[in-house]
Amino acid sequence: MSQQVVVVGGGVIGLLTAFNLAQAGQSVLLLERAEVGRESSWAGGGIVSPLYPWRYSQAVTALAHWSQDFYPQLAARLFEQTGLDPEVHETGLYWLDLDDEQQALDWAQREQRPLSRADMSAVYDAVPVLGPGYRRAIHMSGVANVRNPRLVKSLKAALQAMPQVQIREHCQVSGLLHEQGRISGVATADGVIHSDRVVLTAGAWSGELLKPLGVELPVEPVKGQMILFKCAADFLPSMVLAKGRYAIPRRDGHILVGSTLEYEGFDKTPTGSALDSLKASAIELLPALADAEVVGHWAGLRPGSPQGIPFIGELPGFAGLWLNCGHFRNGLVLAPASCQLLADLLLDQQPVIDPAPYAPAGRLA
Ligand SMILES: Cc1cc2nc3c(=O)[nH]c(=O)nc-3n(C[C@H](O)[C@H](O)[C@H](O)COP(=O)(O)OP(=O)(O)OC[C@H]3O[C@@H](n4cnc5c(N)ncnc54)[C@H](O)[C@@H]3O)c2cc1C
Repeated sequence: MSQQVVVVGGGVIGLLTAFNLAQAGQSVLLLERAEVGRESSWAGGGIVSPLYPWRYSQAVTALAHWSQDFYPQLAARLFEQTGLDPEVHETGLYWLDLDDEQQALDWAQREQRPLSRADMSAVYDAVPVLGPGYRRAIHMSGVANVRNPRLVKSLKAALQAMPQVQIREHCQVSGLLHEQGRISGVATADGVIHSDRVVLTAGAWSGELLKPLGVELPVEPVKGQMILFKCAADFLPSMVLAKGRYAIPRRDGHILVGSTLEYEGFDKTPTGSALDSLKASAIELLPALADAEVVGHWAGLRPGSPQGIPFIGELPGFAGLWLNCGHFRNGLVLAPASCQLLADLLLDQQPVIDPAPYAPAGRLA
């Protein structure tokens, strides 16, 4: 039996899982059916926070906080190792006209996060391009966004430089092989690969791979569409969010506006109606965007899961088969903690956070 760990799926979760395992001295084979980092991890907005962090369980909060603290050093390390900068852009975030502002403030006090009520005239001073008519705002300083397409590129480059890692693209895993309650390898279009340790990081597709094992993993695709503008680099100094829609400034003046939440199966065709709706939201938030060109429009499939709590841990009944999937709307922010936790569990190390809430046992449909 091969000593290498096989990682199935090369989004941010698979790439960072492979990175952490390799850093710990493991030999890793990462299998990706297309090209790494081209699905949800490319399509996402990259806000390094859940959209409404106070609406999530403690399980999501614990992963988010560990990851938020870790992101700057992860990005610096990747930049140093690869010359590709994931561009962690710390802008802060304004939430406008929330219904549950008080819950947000209570949560922030409990969790000791720098979130507070902001005076509206100060908000308009700070973000002069903000649309008229907003009445209330809360602000969290220090919230960053990461340029996720560059993050995945730089993770790929870092992995390619590690002799103990092999990345095989255009290699679809068609089945998970097992014998007497143990995982024994994966079936691929190129043949069988034997391994007694397999990590499933196939995002929205993870549940499909488990069905033939008689396991119903409640992970489903949730389509999200996004549009992109290009403005001057100083156009938007902060992330802003109102009525469920947000604008994210990249360092170079690209502005992402998202997103839709659609339960449409595995179809990820961008639609005209979403384009119109996202444009209308963009102009309401930032009226000057009416004169800007939409330079990109795409859709991605989030790995939806109950309450957005990812599955991290070994699958009961299949020793050696590990899950790290179901990160729903927060896979970019949750990636560092999730992938460290997975590596800790797989390598039998002291886990960075309590693994209990993410254990697949008891959470399968
Ligand atoms: C519009 C939108 C906005 C978002 N905004 C944010 C945000 O601001 N912040 C945030 O934290 N998160 C955000 N997200 C969510 C985030 O993008 C996802 O949670 C995260 O990318 C999931 O990562 P993943 O690696 O699990 O999945 P993916 O990136 O989808 O990767 C899974 C990989 O597995 C591969 N694969 C699938 N099946 C197989 C197979 N059988 N064999 C081999 N390979 C396979 C796929 O090709 C794919 O590359 C957003 C998502 C969308 C769509």
